[in-house]
Amino acid sequence: MTNPSEDKPISIYDTVEILPGLKPQHLQRLLLVSRSLGSTLNLPDILKSVLAAATDLTESEGTSILLIEPNETELRFVASSTQHALADVLVPLDGSLAGWVVTENKPVIIEDVENDERHHKNTSKSAGVTVRNLLIVPLRDRGEVIGVLEAFNKKNDGKYTPYDQAVAQALGSQAAVSIINSRLFSQSDAIAETMHELKTPLMAMTAAAEMLEMDALSDEQRRQVLGTFKRETRRLTRMTQDFLTLSRLESGRYALDLVPVNPIELVQSVVETLEAQAEKAGLTMSLMIESQSLPDIMGDVSRLQQVFINLVSNAIKFNKPGGKVAIKVASKPTGVWISVMDTGRGIDPADMKNLFTRFYRVSHGSEVTEGTGLGLSIVKKLVEAHDGRLEVESQLGKGSAFHCIFPVLTE
Ligand code: ADP
Repeated sequence: MTNPSEDKPISIYDTVEILPGLKPQHLQRLLLVSRSLGSTLNLPDILKSVLAAATDLTESEGTSILLIEPNETELRFVASSTQHALADVLVPLDGSLAGWVVTENKPVIIEDVENDERHHKNTSKSAGVTVRNLLIVPLRDRGEVIGVLEAFNKKNDGKYTPYDQAVAQALGSQAAVSIINSRLFSQSDAIAETMHELKTPLMAMTAAAEMLEMDALSDEQRRQVLGTFKRETRRLTRMTQDFLTLSRLESGRYALDLVPVNPIELVQSVVETLEAQAEKAGLTMSLMIESQSLPDIMGDVSRLQQVFINLVSNAIKFNKPGGKVAIKVASKPTGVWISVMDTGRGIDPADMKNLFTRFYRVSHGSEVTEGTGLGLSIVKKLVEAHDGRLEVESQLGKGSAFHCIFPVLTE
């Protein structure tokens, strides 16, 4: 389960409004570079394509890309279109033009570089080129600035114009998306796994679409095929959302909005959300609260809700008609324990070690339950992000208990 508000689609151009104003040949060049960026996750290839396009589009003597260092106080020259000595040179954010663009999150055109007080003198020295004029745009995706794209020395002694700036910005936002994607990819092989996983619902949807075209289908068959199509669409949507959540959690690109949370109110809201679903499955759901005066935990309410909605959904999904789901809240010396227990099919000890592996789903022959195999990985990461831990007990055929143990909020 994910918080739907956080996974807005990525816009390739956050400067989309400028595109209609571009000259056709420039638009065509941007589409070409977009296609080549879409075909690779290799960072050096991405940087090379971006620089080649930037040099052409802005009619410059040269272009460079600088990316913010993990220390967030410096920028590094990671690529340049010319053979100068700037490779890997570090530039401080404070006291350089590129740093100014990052900090202000604004593009800039400098007609006379040597006389601009924001210019970092060491840069031109190590570059071995005389930089007359400059155009610098932030590399940004959805408000996150990761570096800058610089163009220097407009050809034929020309000057950079607002039009050049707009073109560079359009290219810069494409570049930012690709650079972020390549970083995510290099952090894990999760994308490769996801691509693979996405094939399954896609194949089912393709087959269903083809079947729907057949004339010889009875009404009942058509209804069944449509049902498959809808189910697979839902699965694809959830997979995409869950995958985005998980990759953000793994790359550390998320922030918890921490406040004192009353554990009783937390589980009550989860029970209210899922009561109808449990009833529909023929299950009884109960809440066991050890004492009304439980200590608060420090947490992000919507993320904690996400944890328990996931666990309770599983307790419902992997249960049997007439079964039970119980949520227990207790305070122990080790912390606040919130446990989700069920009388469902349980988990084989052999499957236990893979339970938190991405996409892992226990096979149950012909029985199909909806899911992506990402839910428990997200739950574990979220509990740990709250300095908590997750423990699982299960008996095959009897049921399971998932215990989330959170540190108590001390005054
Ligand atoms: P999903 O529910 O989308 O399949 P999860 O990551 O939440 O993915 O769970 C992974 C697998 O762990 C499930 O497919 C199921 O086989 C098993 N599992 C999770 N919760 C339970 C439970 N309460 N009872 C039995 N099996 C469970």
